[in-house]
Amino acid sequence: MSTLTQPAGPPAPAASGPFLSVRDLYVRFATEDGVVKAVDDLSFDLERGRTLGIVGESGSGKSVTNLAVLGLHSPNYTTITGEILLDGDELTGAREKDLEKLRGNKMAMIFQDPLTSLSPYYTVGRQIAEPFVKHTGASKREGRRRAIEMLEKVGIPQPTLRVDDYPHQFSGGMRQRAMIAMALVCNPSLLIADEPTTALDVTVQAQILDLLKDLQQEFGSAIILITHDLGVVANTADELLVMYAGRAVERGTVKEILTEPHHPYTWGLLGSMPRLTASVEEPLTPIPGTPPSLLAPPSGCPFHPRCGFVSEVGGTRCQDERPTLAPGRAAACHLSPEQKHTLFTEQIKPRLG
Ligand code: SF4
Repeated sequence: MSTLTQPAGPPAPAASGPFLSVRDLYVRFATEDGVVKAVDDLSFDLERGRTLGIVGESGSGKSVTNLAVLGLHSPNYTTITGEILLDGDELTGAREKDLEKLRGNKMAMIFQDPLTSLSPYYTVGRQIAEPFVKHTGASKREGRRRAIEMLEKVGIPQPTLRVDDYPHQFSGGMRQRAMIAMALVCNPSLLIADEPTTALDVTVQAQILDLLKDLQQEFGSAIILITHDLGVVANTADELLVMYAGRAVERGTVKEILTEPHHPYTWGLLGSMPRLTASVEEPLTPIPGTPPSLLAPPSGCPFHPRCGFVSEVGGTRCQDERPTLAPGRAAACHLSPEQKHTLFTEQIKPRLG
């Protein structure tokens, strides 16, 4: 593997504390129908060189959270409160000029669909080189050299020729690799990948996830991997945050959560995943009901209208009292630790196979 050219400028001294620290984050959207509580009291940390998987159904708040980190919400419709510290710098309320400097340089995003993120009018090479030239002051010639280097790095064959191709001349997997090259061109310390493999077939999906892991080892970046699919994070992430209705409902290492999840919503997510050991006739078990409206989220535990274990808690506690998420390995659920263990081992695990 070739060694990457470093962007200009000395590296900033590392601040003490976690590399990314999100504390008590609330994101609210003003709509014609009322205020959408898109993210509600969310806290998490991420260290350099580690990958955090954020998992949940559509509308759980995972993408909204990361757009808040990147400062990409319109201030006209969005209210963001809480603290987002990146390497010691406060991003909440930062000036757009400062955020723009950080985006593409210190933090970058890989989107789900490269076709909507890559312009059809410019060559792939030009689009990879552009942020490098903009953020480092390099010449166009240096930018082109860097684009070829990055295409090689992400496994595009004949990069000196393909650098002049347009996105439509690339396959879906190659376009996603080009997006990764574009995101990593300035060696960002934080990479946010939002459903980066959803549009790809299973083989290419595995290749892209392997590539992300390899590049992380080389660059030492912190990665946030957003997905609705627990299978995607199983081999890629170190820690997991499960989100539901704008809140974190379970947190732990990937091993902890995949070995013995503690939250009924995580049980539901695992049950709705296809399994290699299942026969083709065996249907998937979707979580009953639909995610709630965030204009008026349910009282108490927001999962209670869909949860099959309300009676195990007893009374109306699930409907009345909001469960909190303790620090460390935890699940926001009123079931006792013994109940969680027994229900998982006796009822859920046998069904997961
Ligand atoms: Fe289900 Fe109650 Fe736990 Fe919520 S608190 S997940 S409703 S058992």
